[in-house]
Amino acid sequence: MSRVFNFSAGPAMLPEPVMRQAQAEFLDWHGTGMSIMEMSHRGKEFSQVAEESEADLRQLMGIPDNYRVLFLHGGATMQFSAIPLNLTRPGDTVDYFNTGAWSKKALNEAKRYANVNIVAEHTTEIPDPSTWRLSDNAKYVHYTPNETIGGLQFHTIPDVGDKPLIADMSSCILSEPIDVSKFGMIYAGAQKNIGPAGIAIVIVREDLIGHAREDCPRLLDWKVQADAGSMDNTPATFPWYMASLVFKWLKAQGGLEKIAEINRRKAKKLYDYIDASDFYHNPVRPEDRSIMNVPFTLADSSLDKVFLQESDQAGLKNLKGHRLVGGMRASIYNAMPEEGVDALIEFMQEFARKYG
Ligand SMILES: *Cc1c(COP(=O)(O)O)cnc(C)c1O
Repeated sequence: MSRVFNFSAGPAMLPEPVMRQAQAEFLDWHGTGMSIMEMSHRGKEFSQVAEESEADLRQLMGIPDNYRVLFLHGGATMQFSAIPLNLTRPGDTVDYFNTGAWSKKALNEAKRYANVNIVAEHTTEIPDPSTWRLSDNAKYVHYTPNETIGGLQFHTIPDVGDKPLIADMSSCILSEPIDVSKFGMIYAGAQKNIGPAGIAIVIVREDLIGHAREDCPRLLDWKVQADAGSMDNTPATFPWYMASLVFKWLKAQGGLEKIAEINRRKAKKLYDYIDASDFYHNPVRPEDRSIMNVPFTLADSSLDKVFLQESDQAGLKNLKGHRLVGGMRASIYNAMPEEGVDALIEFMQEFARKYG
């Protein structure tokens, strides 16, 4: 068996020790003679997985006691709808930053339920706070701290006064420590930095629970899910279990301080190389670049195809950029080893020498 370096934006690489453990206990979980996939979500074994996963996540992220943690179906996209359905009535105003493709999807969905005010708009730099147009009466302010497609990242939490701040952290959760108390609600699909696809994590402050519209679908009502321990219906047990193993792996790595140090080093190397070369280019303002998703273009785009073919042959997979921005993209989430980034840079150097 040989493993490659997979730069996919999501579903993305998982830590190898996590997959080995899942493999080893796949048929017989902790001497029960059953797979965790075959167990009742209400039994004591799965309850233990659920409880430990929440406790581990709370510890990793320093989640305060007045926040609830939910493990839900529907990915991040389902929360695009759940957020306005839980926090607004028809005619209410909500504020959205528009910094790229995911912001746009979130705000387009919110438009079905509320009046959306765009606070600021830019895809290659975070707009200066002096230009923000926050509305006085917004029910919440939404932003996408890390734009997975454009590779644009907020490196400071926007100051939005006393409005609940809501963040789609799908592609940056668990990549570095954050101050959860600054947020009203945080959500993330699992398949980038948490585990396999099929689950989303919602971290929501208690005072924002219990205000859903009459017609909010039951499963999207945070109160229903909080009261039921995320088990109003059958949860996605396998992704939840896998996430629990990833949390334990992160703790064993030394937690988010340590993982952030590695992530910053990985990203810096790659950006430093791109900036030093005139063969490759990244369009994002340097201080606003993502540490998780690194898009880049070749000076001569007619070489894109060859680049993708040769990198693939070299075991560097899925470097094709998103169709919206073209070029290449290297997603370097927590599970991408530093050697993967080193191998990519080496390949890029060699490629530039050969074709430059
Ligand atoms: C991947 C991604 C999504 C979509 O997640 P799903 O779980 O597929 O719904 C939303 N927002 C961001 C920032 C993403 O990276």
